[in-house]
Amino acid sequence: MASDIHIHPSVDDGIKPAVAGFAGGTLVCKCATNPVKVEVSAQTAFNHACGCTKCWKPAGSVFSVVAVVSRDKIKVLENGDKLKVVDANAAIQRHACTGCGAHLYGRIENKDHPFYGLDFVHTELSHEQGWAAPEFAAFVSSIIEAGAKPDQMGAVRARLREIGLEPYDCLSPPLMDLIATHVAKRSGALAA
Ligand SMILES: [Zn+2]
Ligand SMILES: [Zn+2]
Repeated sequence: MASDIHIHPSVDDGIKPAVAGFAGGTLVCKCATNPVKVEVSAQTAFNHACGCTKCWKPAGSVFSVVAVVSRDKIKVLENGDKLKVVDANAAIQRHACTGCGAHLYGRIENKDHPFYGLDFVHTELSHEQGWAAPEFAAFVSSIIEAGAKPDQMGAVRARLREIGLEPYDCLSPPLMDLIATHVAKRSGALAA
């Protein structure tokens, strides 16, 4: 049965809808003592399940659930000294807790990057309810790189569709269009 397939704890029992007027909350890492706390003072956008190998996932999950928010809405409140960038060479600088490994926020420092200005966050780290609901699944084929069996991919995609997360092997069409538009404006193929 497709429902035996585990995607992520926040979507396995169905997707919780966003709450109208929700204006953010506080992300708290998994450390039992002195957790890192990061304020997100806005609703997130483009929340999605991601199968890439770089996003932080809870133990036992093959997908992460990750959303974006304007970087000026992110503020480290407590224990920021525990944060360290996972890979300084990656396009997204993922600020992870050195105690528990949770990624508190991912930031793009390259001003030419199509997503510059947006930080990546995992709203499951917040106790508040009402965050933007996941809308699709990205980089689905990439879960094979983390050890998923290729012959189970049909079942994984079927389960994603059952939950309501259309599976894509890159990003969703609106995000791919956004990237291509950025590239076209820089090359002059489109008027800036
Ligand atoms: Zn921690
Ligand atoms: Zn990812």
